[in-house]
Amino acid sequence: MGSIVLFGPPGAGKGTQAQRIMEHTGLPQVSTGDMLRAAVKAGTQVGLEAKRYMDEGALVPDEVILALIKQRIQEPDAVDGVMFDGFPRTVPQAEALSELADISHVLAIEVPDERIVERICGRVTCGSCGSVFHDTFNPVPANGCSCGNFEEKRRVDDNEDTVLNRLDAYHRQTSPLAAWYLERGLFHRVDGDRDIAAITADLLTLLE
Ligand code: ADP
Ligand code: AMP
Repeated sequence: MGSIVLFGPPGAGKGTQAQRIMEHTGLPQVSTGDMLRAAVKAGTQVGLEAKRYMDEGALVPDEVILALIKQRIQEPDAVDGVMFDGFPRTVPQAEALSELADISHVLAIEVPDERIVERICGRVTCGSCGSVFHDTFNPVPANGCSCGNFEEKRRVDDNEDTVLNRLDAYHRQTSPLAAWYLERGLFHRVDGDRDIAAITADLLTLLE
């Protein structure tokens, strides 16, 4: 197996599924969103440039993203492939990726737009371990996160106004990638508007 791309709109459940699939594939999750948030937090040049796009819910320029990816996939844990989450998001990013890595599966998690706002606005993550929860659909257990050190985090861009821009960017710039990967025989869809466990089961079947 090569690398896997988890594809879908913001809030589809890519991060949630990546954490669950990782136990089975052993491939590390590479989330460009997480990498950018780390750069913003660290106050690096990349972070400073990316922040204004992220705050608006617009895509960060391709060259910034590709520089991050090129560096990340050279790390030792990426030799057998990775699980891309939130990347690629434009056709030029996918074209560049095809020169950099062997992609075996593009797994699209399909969720209708009307579900996305409630998913995003209720998202909570654990700042200690990165686990993803939801106020209603996947609440933090009463005794806290399994890491034992739950630290509640909410993303600044997880608000209703920004979500609409992020969805717009998805439809205009990212969704054309579905046809691009379909033509290359790599694209597989799952219905993401179901239980988290049912979606994981379907994704694992596709990977078998
Ligand atoms: P993405 O990485 O695609 O942006 P996340 O995995 O962070 O999406 O999920 C977005 C929010 O939706 C989180 O709060 C998560 O707990 C919740 N969520 C994920 N999958 C489901 C699902 N199948 N049903 C309901 N809520 C879900
Ligand atoms: P995410 O964590 O995937 O929801 O991404 C959060 C934000 O980071 C997005 O709204 C974009 O501004 C930016 N971003 C993440 N990944 C990419 C990418 N592959 N291309 C362009 N912008 C990205």
